[in-house]
Amino acid sequence: MKRLKLKLHTQIVIALFLGAIFGAIFHIDKNLVEITHVENGIEKKVEIKNWSTFSFVANETKTYSSKDQLLIIQKFKLASQDERKKLHLNVDGKIFENVKSIDKVKTIALYIKPIGDIFIRLLTMIAIPLVLASLIVGAASLGDIKRLARVGGKTISIYLVTTALAVSIGLILANLIQPGIRMPQSTKEELLATYQTDVAKKIESEVDIDVVSQIVNLVPKNPIRAMAESEMLQIVFFALFVGIALTFVRKEKSQPVINFFDGLSDTMIKLVDLIMKIAPYGVFALISATVGEFGFEILQTLIWYSLTVLLGLFIHTVFIYSGMIKLFSKMKVKTFFRGMRRAQTIAFSTSSSAATLPVNMECCEENLGISKNITSFTLPLGATINMDGTALYQGVATVFIAQVYGMDLGIIEQLMVVLTAVLASIGTAPVPGVGIIMLIIVLKAVHVPEEGIALILGVDRILDMCRTVTNITGDATVSTIIAQSEGELRKPDLSEA
Ligand code: ASP
Repeated sequence: MKRLKLKLHTQIVIALFLGAIFGAIFHIDKNLVEITHVENGIEKKVEIKNWSTFSFVANETKTYSSKDQLLIIQKFKLASQDERKKLHLNVDGKIFENVKSIDKVKTIALYIKPIGDIFIRLLTMIAIPLVLASLIVGAASLGDIKRLARVGGKTISIYLVTTALAVSIGLILANLIQPGIRMPQSTKEELLATYQTDVAKKIESEVDIDVVSQIVNLVPKNPIRAMAESEMLQIVFFALFVGIALTFVRKEKSQPVINFFDGLSDTMIKLVDLIMKIAPYGVFALISATVGEFGFEILQTLIWYSLTVLLGLFIHTVFIYSGMIKLFSKMKVKTFFRGMRRAQTIAFSTSSSAATLPVNMECCEENLGISKNITSFTLPLGATINMDGTALYQGVATVFIAQVYGMDLGIIEQLMVVLTAVLASIGTAPVPGVGIIMLIIVLKAVHVPEEGIALILGVDRILDMCRTVTNITGDATVSTIIAQSEGELRKPDLSEA
């Protein structure tokens, strides 16, 4: 009997849907916590469900109902060692002392997450050597410094313009829809209390807002260390410099070096084919863990904010990129989006432009027909500095938080948001959840309280998945346009898409 062979893209999409359904069925129970405590010298784990009163110390007036799972867990995390010793949990009259931890109870949807983690790690493992090798070859194969300056100048300028456009779309929508004004005061207080510890950790992660030191930091003291620490901007800087230098070295010496890096980059791309064999399983595990943990409920709480971000991403991805492809290339818009499907689903499930880079390069070269000369230069650069989705979301988030705090951002402040969001998105590492840390820079620039990120933290993971799709689609759009303008665009071939 002939076996039905579905295309990889179809398999991934099916995995995505099934994963979401699986996660929704086996989601974390919000009325359940696991208390680990020591009784008579023995550590015990007790699961508690549907409590009606939960208090932390004897005679405490504030009690928590079973709706307050996250608040209870946060409150325990916030307690100092001393305070923990004095804890005297009272759950519906049952007392727990010597409490070690209070946690959510994992379900099967979360236990399978390691499969997804392995998938992301495999793709990320390729990303650093791929960025290094392909950028060196990309810069060197543009031939001479003049061409490099021309292509580099065009690429970076379009990246910057599209990012500024993305923030502006975000700002316009947030001003029109006013998601912050639609949020009830009670929801605001609840979200601020629930996410306060996570925010404290993020604010501590110290983002450098000094532009001069950011520029100084572009130059790695030690390129090996830059690679070891995944400092993408430093790797890009080093690779471009090596590529440029190679164009000045005598051919018999430069060619073996170029061949080596070319071979390395091809090997990494080949690895992608192997890794993609487990893509459906990886995607299934990632989506089911995300839906199982975060659910869709938080989307309801932040419905206006989420809709504003999603609408902005949709407009930018579908209309702006289509318009650009139509205006500046001979490729059909439909062909472009069909050729990009696989990379987009991987971006959605991994939330990482770096992990998606190898797949994006493959889609652009094999499906869209962009020459390797162009993809190897534009895509690693784009994955590192071009984040339209992230910038758009930062624009919406800033106005949203300001509105919730009753602040009115004037035109000058909004222009400041455009400028800082463009810079912040360049500095955003292409991995999950960094956009929200870089948002702190934008908030600081316009004096919006940074603690406000507590309001949006709950939906961040889901929106991160969506903005990463925009980020990588933007890189491919610019790559297509540059390839067209340089005469490096072959006929697309969608047979493998
Ligand atoms: N996850 C995003 C990316 O990798 C970055 C972010 O916005 O957090 O493109």
